[in-house]
Amino acid sequence: MSPRYVYGPVLFKYIAGSTIGINNVPVNVCPYACVYCRFGGPKRISIERRPYSDPKKVLEEAKRILPASEADKIIFFASGEPVLDSNIRHLAEALRAVFGKPVGAVINPSLLWRRDVINDLLALDFLILRVDTVVEDTWKLINRPCKDLLFDAVLQGIRDFSKSFGGTIMVETVLIKNVNTSEDELHALGSFLKSLNPSAVFISPPYTFEKWVQKPTRSDFELSQSILLSELKGSNIIVSDKPDIIESFAVLGGNAIDILLSLLSVHPLRREQCEVLLRTEYDKPHEVLRSLLNRGQIRAIRYDGETLFLI
Ligand code: SF4
Repeated sequence: MSPRYVYGPVLFKYIAGSTIGINNVPVNVCPYACVYCRFGGPKRISIERRPYSDPKKVLEEAKRILPASEADKIIFFASGEPVLDSNIRHLAEALRAVFGKPVGAVINPSLLWRRDVINDLLALDFLILRVDTVVEDTWKLINRPCKDLLFDAVLQGIRDFSKSFGGTIMVETVLIKNVNTSEDELHALGSFLKSLNPSAVFISPPYTFEKWVQKPTRSDFELSQSILLSELKGSNIIVSDKPDIIESFAVLGGNAIDILLSLLSVHPLRREQCEVLLRTEYDKPHEVLRSLLNRGQIRAIRYDGETLFLI
C-alpha cells in the first residue's frame, strides 16, 4: 500500500543529512496565507487544532520506510501547518522511541503563544521557524494572518518559546523585493532573531505566484546577509537564490507515481526532478507526467522561466 503520511528519504536544502518527512496535516490548512505560499495559499486559514493524522498509520508507514532509508532525521514538513495536528507530540515521541532518530519540524511559529502548542513542540529536537518580518504592517502584507492572531502576542510567543526550548532552532526568512528588504526592516528582524539564538538563518526568495511579488536582487541578498551577520554574530547566515527546499529524494515504500504525488502534496518539484523519480519505474516519464496533468491529479505552474509541478 502506498504511503499517505510518510515520504522520503529526502535531502532538504537546509537540513544536514538524509531525512524522512512526515506529512501529518495532509490538507492545506494554515494560520497564514502567505503571498509566496508554495500552494498559492492555503485552502483554509485556521488556527484550530485537530487530530489531522492517524498515529497508528503514521507509525506503520514509518516502520515500512525508515529501516530501508538510512535516514538521519525525521521531520514534520506537511501539506498544511504541522502544529495544527494535535497528535504532533504523541507522534514525535513515538517516532523517536521506535527509531532513535532526532525529530524536528518546519513550522509557522504564529501559535507559540498557546500553551498546548508550546507543550507539544517542547518534545521536538529541532525546529525551523518561518519568520519574514517583525513589522506588523509587513506581516499583514506578506503573511496575511488569520484574523484571530495578534501580532505582539505572536512575537512574544516566539521569544518566550525560544528560551524554554532545549533543542536547536533555525529560522527561514523569505525576502520580497521592496517589502522586507529595507535596512530598517532587516535590522529589526536581525535584532529579534538574535533573541532566539538560532544556529542558522536561511534567506530565500519567494515563489512569485502573485504579480506584485518580486524576487530580491543580488544586492538585497547581500544587504540582508551583512545586516543579519552584524546582528547575529556567531550564527550561520545562508542565502539561497532559489525557493526550493527539497533538493533530492529516493524512492521507497510504494510505486513511483504515488511517491511523486506524496512529494508534490508537500512541495512543488521541477520537471527534471519529477522525471528522475518516475524514471525509476517508467521508460517515458514525460508521458506519465502528461497523463497525470490531463487527469487533473497534478497541476503545472510557471515560475522563473521554468515549469513546476504540484498537487
Ligand atoms: S506558512 Fe507556509 S503553508 Fe502557511 S501559507 Fe505560509 S507558505 Fe503557505
